[in-house]
Amino acid sequence: MTHAMTDPNSATTVLIYGGGVAGALLARGLSDAVPVTLVDPLDYFEVPMAAPRNLVQPAFAERAIMPFAEALPKVRHLQGRLTELSPTGGLVALSSGRETTLRGQITVLATGSQYANDLMRGTAGTGDTRRRFYERYAQRVAQSRNIVIVGGGPIGVELAGEILESAPGRKITLVEAGPRILAGTTPEAARHVSRFLVSRGVEILLDQTLAEGGSDPGDPLAGAGTAVTSGGRRIPYDLMVWCTGGRPGTGYMRRHFSSVLNERGRISVTPELTVAGHPGLYALGDINDVDENKMAWHIAGQVDTACANILKALKDPAAGPGRPYRPQTNNPSMAVTLGSKAGVLYLQGVGLVTWGWFVSLVKSRHMLVPKYRKALGLK
Ligand SMILES: Cc1cc2nc3c(=O)[nH]c(=O)nc-3n(C[C@H](O)[C@H](O)[C@H](O)COP(=O)(O)OP(=O)(O)OC[C@H]3O[C@@H](n4cnc5c(N)ncnc54)[C@H](O)[C@@H]3O)c2cc1C
Repeated sequence: MTHAMTDPNSATTVLIYGGGVAGALLARGLSDAVPVTLVDPLDYFEVPMAAPRNLVQPAFAERAIMPFAEALPKVRHLQGRLTELSPTGGLVALSSGRETTLRGQITVLATGSQYANDLMRGTAGTGDTRRRFYERYAQRVAQSRNIVIVGGGPIGVELAGEILESAPGRKITLVEAGPRILAGTTPEAARHVSRFLVSRGVEILLDQTLAEGGSDPGDPLAGAGTAVTSGGRRIPYDLMVWCTGGRPGTGYMRRHFSSVLNERGRISVTPELTVAGHPGLYALGDINDVDENKMAWHIAGQVDTACANILKALKDPAAGPGRPYRPQTNNPSMAVTLGSKAGVLYLQGVGLVTWGWFVSLVKSRHMLVPKYRKALGLK
């Protein structure tokens, strides 16, 4: 790595760190009106909802992975990672090995969650690297008879549904540390999903963690073993899948901005979604402390608010803080798929919908890929 240097072309109108759900949609929304630079270690946007299916049907990833060059043609993309944010700019480690310091008139942090490994979200590389990973993973699932899924949140549950559909005949054990699966939605929705999985042979172990014998959580392709749970169950496995939740990827804030991080590492924001005390600095999506389920579903509203506030602030810097975002606090709405033909949808104000055909229509069949392709201007 060379010494840090300031790129003479680094000053941009809007500088976005992170091109996931929040950053890519915001970049798309702003780039017709103002110059936008996007920094992301990947060269593509990937629809996160498609990942559980991509892992067993790698061809599904073809349309779920969209190169930034196609999805954000008016945006300047720098492939790199923000490593430290200071009051004078952001230090970025470029994938070329160089370092640079960037500044924007407006800066947006949208760096999302970090997971135990690259299973559900790639952390570096190209779309081709990601597609090859999915191919290798699907082969590994096909070769595995006993599969242990660690974590009974939506991701673990959806992956169990995908394996049941695309690679039937495996013995699947789902280990959940809490008293029920799907803690983010209602007990009724969780009961329906449990019944579906158990009736198809999935064993669900609640209130249990892995005491010993787990695979290396950092390596999604780690080898076989025998796990012992805190409840004393011995489970031989060919493949262990870590689907434990993510944590906010905000390490770059620690040196200069630790005062705005809450105890969980999330960034405190104002109702207008700027970082508390820093009017030109926004934080969106999984990394901010807005009190709502961390879901793409809600992030769309944050992106609309930020887009309007940024355009207003650029037009008239004296205009005041802009419009507030209305958080979806305690909204348990959630769509959980169980393969391509089943699932549950819990909608606030409507209740639980378990008609497979309906859940398939709204999510399971397409995993929202067409929705994101359309939002990013692709067919
Ligand atoms: C497998 C899976 C399935 C999901 N299913 C659903 C669902 O069905 N419905 C739903 O509503 N939500 C779902 N979610 C949650 C949803 O995807 C997240 O809440 C959402 O993606 C968060 O958006 P974000 O923009 O904050 O972060 P992300 O979309 O994670 O994007 C973060 C981006 O920042 C980049 N980045 C990370 N660190 C840095 C850095 N230091 N510098 C620069 N760039 C960086 C990453 O490469 C990434 O592109 C799912 C999540 C996963 C992982």
